[in-house]
Amino acid sequence: MRKNYLLTPGPTPLPPQVLEAMSRPIIHHRTPQFQAVLKEATEGLKYIYQTRNDVFILASSGTGAMEASAVNILSPGDTALVIQGGKFGERWTEICKAYAINTEIINVEWGKAVNPLDIENKLKSNPEIKAVFTTLCETSTGVASNIEAIGKMVKGTDAVLVVDAISGLGAIDLKTDDWGADMVVSGSQKGLMLPPGLGFISVSPKAFKLIEASKSPRYYFDLRKAKKALDKTDTPFTPAITLVIALNEVLKMMKQDGLEAIFLRHKTMADATRAAVKSLGLKLFAPEAGSDVVTAVCVPEAIDGEKLVKTMRDTYGVTIAGGQDELKGKVFRIAHMGFIEEFDIITGISCLEKVLTQMGYKFALGTGVKAAEEIFLKS
Ligand SMILES: *Cc1c(COP(=O)(O)O)cnc(C)c1O
Repeated sequence: MRKNYLLTPGPTPLPPQVLEAMSRPIIHHRTPQFQAVLKEATEGLKYIYQTRNDVFILASSGTGAMEASAVNILSPGDTALVIQGGKFGERWTEICKAYAINTEIINVEWGKAVNPLDIENKLKSNPEIKAVFTTLCETSTGVASNIEAIGKMVKGTDAVLVVDAISGLGAIDLKTDDWGADMVVSGSQKGLMLPPGLGFISVSPKAFKLIEASKSPRYYFDLRKAKKALDKTDTPFTPAITLVIALNEVLKMMKQDGLEAIFLRHKTMADATRAAVKSLGLKLFAPEAGSDVVTAVCVPEAIDGEKLVKTMRDTYGVTIAGGQDELKGKVFRIAHMGFIEEFDIITGISCLEKVLTQMGYKFALGTGVKAAEEIFLKS
C-alpha cells in the first residue's frame, strides 16, 4: 500500500468535490441542463479572470489555448514579440514558427523576470509588432512576471498583450481588464484543481479586431466560431462535458473562498516552502522574482538532483518536479498551487529532509519542517 502526494506544477491534486462531480452520469451537451452549467461556469471563469471579456472553454490542454491565441490574432508574415525566460516562453516562439509568424525575442536570463522597459523599447523600435507573448508564471523557473507593468507598456500601442497564465490563474493576482491583458490563456490542471483537458482563453475587443482580420488557417480553434456559439451559450463542437461540470463545482468553491483568500493561501504556502528550503541551507533558483505558484530550488553540489526527485516519488510517494532542459538535475521544483494546504507542504518538506539526509546532505533533521511550521503559526 502507498499513499501518494502530488506537489507538481500540473497536474495538481483534485478536491473531493471534483471527484464527485466527475463520477456523475454523463448528460448531453445540447440540453438546457448543460447550457445552465456552461453559463454558470463561464460567469465563474470571468470572476477568476477578473474580466468582463468573453472567456472561451476549449477541449484541449493549455498549449491548445496558446496555439489558439496565436493563430487567431496573427497572419503568416506578421511579427510578434516573445518574452523568453524559460521553457514556456520558448513554447510561444515555437508556436509562432509553426504558423510562419516572425518573432522578435527578448531573452531573459532563466530565474530572472523581464524588465518591462525592455518591452517598451522593443515596441518603439519595432512598430510592426502586433502581439506581445508573455508568461504570468514561468513554471520551469518559478518566476512571476510583472504583468501589470507590462500591460502599461503595451496599452498605448497597437499591439495586443497575450498572457500565458496556465500556471498562475486562480493562484496569484491577474487583473485581466485593469492590467490590459488582451488575451489570457489558461488550463484546467493547475490552479483550477481539475484534471488536464480544458483550455481557457479570454479575448478583449482589441484582440477581437485582430481575430476578424487574421488570415491564418484555422478550424477547430477558430475563435470566430467559438464566439458565435458562446453568444448562444453553446460550443461549436462537443465540449468536455464532464470536465466542464467539474469546473463549475470548482468555480463555486473558489467564489465562496474569494480571490483575496485564495491568493493569501498561495502566498502562505510559498512563504513556508521558501523558508523551509532556505533553513536547510538550500538556495532558491529565483530569489528575487520567485512566484507564489511554484518554487524552484537549487540542488546542492554533491547531490544527484534527478535521484532526489526519483527517490521521493518512487520510495515515498511524494511527487515533486525536477528541472527541465538546461536545469535538468540542477533544480527541483515544489509546487504549492491549487488544492494544497499547510500539511501537504509539511509532508513534502519532511520527505525532502529524509531523502536529503539519506543522500548524505548534512543539516539538523526537522529544521525545514520547523521553519515551515513557524510561518503557518504566524499566518
Ligand atoms: C503547464 C504549462 C503549460 C503547458 O500546458 P499543457 O496543459 O501541458 O499544454 C504552458 N505554460 C505554462 C506556464 C505552464 O505551466
